[in-house]
Amino acid sequence: MKTVYVDNAATTAMSDTAINAMTPYLKEVFGNPSSLYAAGQAAKEALEKARADIAQCLNADVKEIYFTSGGSESDNQAIRSAAANGARNGKRHIITTSFEHHAVLHTLKKLEQSGAEVTYLDVHSDGLVTARQVEEAIRPDTALVTVMYANNEVGTIQPVRGIGEVCRRAGVPFHTDAVQAVGHIPVDVKADNIDMLSLSAHKFHGPKGVGALYCKRGLPLNSFIEGGAQERNRRGGTENVAGIVSMAAALKEACANMRKDNEKLLKLRDRLIDGLLTIPYSKLNGDRKNRLPGNVNICFEGTEGESLLLNLDNAGICASSGSACTTASLEPSHVLLALGLPHEIAHGSLRLTLSADNTDEDIDYILKEVPEAVKKVRAISSFWDDLTSGKTKHFI
Ligand SMILES: *Cc1c(COP(=O)(O)O)cnc(C)c1O
Repeated sequence: MKTVYVDNAATTAMSDTAINAMTPYLKEVFGNPSSLYAAGQAAKEALEKARADIAQCLNADVKEIYFTSGGSESDNQAIRSAAANGARNGKRHIITTSFEHHAVLHTLKKLEQSGAEVTYLDVHSDGLVTARQVEEAIRPDTALVTVMYANNEVGTIQPVRGIGEVCRRAGVPFHTDAVQAVGHIPVDVKADNIDMLSLSAHKFHGPKGVGALYCKRGLPLNSFIEGGAQERNRRGGTENVAGIVSMAAALKEACANMRKDNEKLLKLRDRLIDGLLTIPYSKLNGDRKNRLPGNVNICFEGTEGESLLLNLDNAGICASSGSACTTASLEPSHVLLALGLPHEIAHGSLRLTLSADNTDEDIDYILKEVPEAVKKVRAISSFWDDLTSGKTKHFI
């Protein structure tokens, strides 16, 4: 059976470049980077070369990059560190948005239990917040602003540069979860006024379980995992050398191909959006313009996302409703609710996230299968019955 993978916001296939880059460090160069003999120092050199490559892709300095186990750890470390350092100066207020990734939201929930006060900015129905909203929420006791670069469900790209500017002017550290942005759209920590940034390798065709945290020089960064003196005492534990080298290779490749890949992706994405919107009572979630080049998120009234996914799975299409983390629960996505969608509509949403590996034939196939799946699901849906009989009103 044909399979079409369009769930690249959940994870990506590793590129050949990323796989080939890591194998020597699993085989010959397996030394511990902290060891003084040559085999250890060869690993250490590879580690530092990877750090320099990643710094260059972000326009950061090499000493501003810390390796972690992925996006979730980077988010946890950045937020907890800024909260602790703020609290030491009596600042216990944190600003975020209501549609962050759970790695951010759940960390903040924990901090609220120990005395932090969190402002959750409302997200406009187009999936965007403004720098103005951030500016108005900043107080003298604000310890941190954390706003994601691009949303993982609806793909909207936030006005990070403006938000960073507002934060810099107020002297408040600005963290951004850029896991969906890095390797996909240009990210420049200096031009964007970013103080801390999280990234994860497996979202740009690198391996799972490895990521990085950028922290601007001069900003204090507390360790999150205690242990040895690795990562200049900010992250204990023997480094994942093969994963880190592979991450750097994947990122370099993604940045080198970005312009070409995005030209292709925009064409595929827009054809997919236009095709799917011909299905009656469908609507694109999130702003169309300020949107990741590979993201399509559409709701179909009178459907349940889970049933759509099962039908598509039978046709070999790997997609998502909401995010992978919520697939196991029947709660609608907090992101779609944050955009103001009613529960029934949020339930009937489908996220298709493309990579440059997708083809025109993939889009043809999806445009054949999704309308059939929607029709099937609506045929047995009580929501749809109520809509067609006029018992409930159409939202779209
Ligand atoms: C995937 C993702 C994360 C988590 O990254 P992991 O490396 O899987 O821990 C965090 N934030 C966003 C926006 C993501 O898409």
